[in-house]
Amino acid sequence: MDKKPLEILRNTFGYDRFRSPQDEVIRTLLQGMDALVLMPTGGGKSLCYQIPAMALPGTGVVVSPLIALMQDQVAALRQAGVRAAYLNSTLASDEARAVETQLLDGRLDLLYVAPERLLTERTLNLLDRVCVNLFAIDEAHCVSQWGHDFRPEYIKLSLLAERWPRVPRIALTATADARTRGEIRARLCLDQARAFISGFDRPNIRYRINQSAGNARRELLRFIRDTHPDEAGIVYCLSRKRVEEVAEWLTGQGLTALPYHAGLPAEMREAHQRRFLNEEGIIIVATIAFGMGIDKPNVRFVAHLNLPKSIEAYYQETGRAGRDGLAADAWMSYGLQDVITLRQMVDASDADESHKRVEPHKLDAMLGLCETVTCRRQTLLPYFGEPLAEPCGNCDNCLEPPQTWDATVPAQMALSCVHRTGQRFGVNYLVDVLRGKEDERIRGFGHDRLSVFGIGRDLTVNEWRGIFRQLIARGLLTVDLEGHGGLHLNPSCRPVLRGEVPLMLRKETVPTRISREPRRS
Ligand code: ADP
Ligand code: ZN
Repeated sequence: MDKKPLEILRNTFGYDRFRSPQDEVIRTLLQGMDALVLMPTGGGKSLCYQIPAMALPGTGVVVSPLIALMQDQVAALRQAGVRAAYLNSTLASDEARAVETQLLDGRLDLLYVAPERLLTERTLNLLDRVCVNLFAIDEAHCVSQWGHDFRPEYIKLSLLAERWPRVPRIALTATADARTRGEIRARLCLDQARAFISGFDRPNIRYRINQSAGNARRELLRFIRDTHPDEAGIVYCLSRKRVEEVAEWLTGQGLTALPYHAGLPAEMREAHQRRFLNEEGIIIVATIAFGMGIDKPNVRFVAHLNLPKSIEAYYQETGRAGRDGLAADAWMSYGLQDVITLRQMVDASDADESHKRVEPHKLDAMLGLCETVTCRRQTLLPYFGEPLAEPCGNCDNCLEPPQTWDATVPAQMALSCVHRTGQRFGVNYLVDVLRGKEDERIRGFGHDRLSVFGIGRDLTVNEWRGIFRQLIARGLLTVDLEGHGGLHLNPSCRPVLRGEVPLMLRKETVPTRISREPRRS
């Protein structure tokens, strides 16, 4: 007689009841049907396949792309008395053989395998000789070529359906918009799978997105000191160099901040991760290499010192905060340079053409979230198919509604400055022209004789940078492809240039000294 799921939950894992939809997912697999599970990070995806694998005769095979995570999970399972093991490249050949023997002897409830290992003839033949009771494909969004975690081996996992058509399969992910969901179904032959999409909203996370006034590090320090002294948090940066700088600087300010990126020695990465997990109040400063699968419930804040590439990435990274359900912050500071750098990275990436068409849209959606003056959650959740009827009351825009101002006139000045200087200069140069700076280069090009020269003296350099940032973010200006940061006009700027539509921008520093009369360009 098979063991009952609820008994396993209580006796092995020590929990009283299932979270929705865990029990439904488990029932689906026990009935021999496939499942597609979308649950936010921390939602409890693992039990959805661990329990049926234990309840059914035979072994459940779990495909997981992350070796470190696999080892942690197996260690935790063994501690709970579950017969679990893994096969991946870290095992010596005699260790791997020992695992194979356990498997053949029917002494394993769960076998974790890296995808490339699973796809070897040796492993496939091995699985032919045992009773596999289910296949679980974790981090299933890795099958998506559109996503940031694409893994080519994942596409080949469709052979599981061909080779073992009777074995139920479950694909799990914390991040999948409608397009990615469709891809998971198609690529993994899961068109018949029951979908369980649940609770993407994380009501305990307070989203805050700030336009940096120029010193994001100091703003971060103030945020940590004011709201999270001595608490655990993750700070994400775009580059390894920046990770090291920021970690060092925070440490110099008296915080315990440890760097983490793929360029550091493995021992150091492990040591830092371990301290973060086991000690209180540690801040990890990391590139996105850190975090997939990190299960630390009391991370009180996730901070971004750069703009993530997409809303999915942002959601996944911020989702590591507050897994215990208590109040947590997702804080971000970004500026003009982020927008320019990311636009260029997306344009310059060596992705294939179809990618290049999609990535700018993902970035646009991210920028839209940053620049929105309405509820962040109402902007964020529709992206995951979960529109929110009312403003959330727990984001910066809900708590302190941003003010907007009519920026039509300065936007016209900025746009015509781009036009008159020939659409090849970057923001700094354009701001100098607008502010009428005495400058060799400007004189050399004869731009001191343009009608736009000195026309924008009333605004500060930072105010102008804010205007350019928002014009780029909204797609009225494009950054050039060659990487010099030159700006050119997009057709969408014409109605603004002609004064047909007003341009309302988020108020940052208050520009009070600007004339309200529209200008002709
Ligand atoms: P995910 O893989 O979705 O990120 P996990 O499976 O790692 O999430 O689970 C997150 C946390 O929630 C773990 O600490 C897990 O033990 C806990 N958890 C899962 N299911 C339950 C439950 N039914 N009751 C209480 N805690 C649970
Ligand atoms: Zn809100």
